[in-house]
Amino acid sequence: MLVKEIKCRTILSKSGLYDIDYSINPYKGCEHSCLYCYAPFIIREKRKWGNFVDVKINAPEVLTKEMRKKKKGNILISSVTDPYQPLEKKYKITRRILEKLKDTKHFVSVLTKSSLVLRDLDLFKKMKCEIGLTITTLDEDTVKIFEPNSSSPEERLETLSYLKISGIKTYIFFGPLLPFISDLNLEKTISRFSLVRPDYILIDKLNIKSQEHWEKIKNVLEMNYPNLVKKWKKVLFSKNDYYDKLKQRIIEIIQNYDIKYEFCY
Ligand code: SF4
Repeated sequence: MLVKEIKCRTILSKSGLYDIDYSINPYKGCEHSCLYCYAPFIIREKRKWGNFVDVKINAPEVLTKEMRKKKKGNILISSVTDPYQPLEKKYKITRRILEKLKDTKHFVSVLTKSSLVLRDLDLFKKMKCEIGLTITTLDEDTVKIFEPNSSSPEERLETLSYLKISGIKTYIFFGPLLPFISDLNLEKTISRFSLVRPDYILIDKLNIKSQEHWEKIKNVLEMNYPNLVKKWKKVLFSKNDYYDKLKQRIIEIIQNYDIKYEFCY
């Protein structure tokens, strides 16, 4: 892993995401190295994703300056990196950013795949915020292939549970829905979600950003799930109702629980 300390010029970026005004990415690059990650294609990063991280060491100070000039709004931490990837333990950039945001009127939505987020519970208790943990599947072996360096699904759920018990608003980001993987044991998955009492569940499908993005996924599928390559191609690149049907199935199951939910597709 190539780690470089860099100085950023801006940190509070305008966001086009629904209900989000700004995003903050304390790092460029991500140790979690998820197979399906589309961040490198969004930020046009040519270095091998998962092999490098640029640490924005001056981000908290830049944020202080930028907040003076920008209107209050909803902030997502983060959109193209994980704010609690392992390096955060050492650098504490996310923590220092939260310290700057804690006394402002900004609403902060944190999204991560790491139980390290619990370290900052003291700050969350003083902020207007919600904490989301991403989960694509509960199957540990699958997670090792698709999200190799993040916390296990069970750790993420325990993290959510602890945050919820501590009075923090929480959500599960159920996505990206991996065709014929995330929908295995769907009843069991949603039932397990319900036990941690998230305030809501946000659900999204898998979005392929470019041919290069697909090739990267396809190569790993060929090695680990050869029988899924053709099926994924069909779902992702031809007219079909796979995700519509999956949406209906999820709605039917989730309605059995008292949980709010929203689809991004
Ligand atoms: S945690 Fe998020 S940003 Fe990091 S590799 Fe995974 S999908 Fe990409």
